[in-house]
Amino acid sequence: MTTATQKLEDFQPLSKAANDVKRQFCKECEATRKRYDVRLLGYPISWYENHDGSDTGCEGCFWYNPIEFRKHLVEKIEEEN
Ligand SMILES: [Zn+2]
Repeated sequence: MTTATQKLEDFQPLSKAANDVKRQFCKECEATRKRYDVRLLGYPISWYENHDGSDTGCEGCFWYNPIEFRKHLVEKIEEEN
């Protein structure tokens, strides 16, 4: 019933263009072993797992799974309120 849920659903269908972008960014995550910092796009957190960002390359980054990212973001915002 929450607006958060509606937003997640709206976000779900990734276009081919979005998938191409995702692949490009995550190639870099894996190459550098450092996740893309999505704060650059205006999000309040960089990634949703392993917050020091030092280990697994892409896992937990926005582009790895935007839907999961949004879920964690909503949880974090709820925690802080
Ligand atoms: Zn990535």
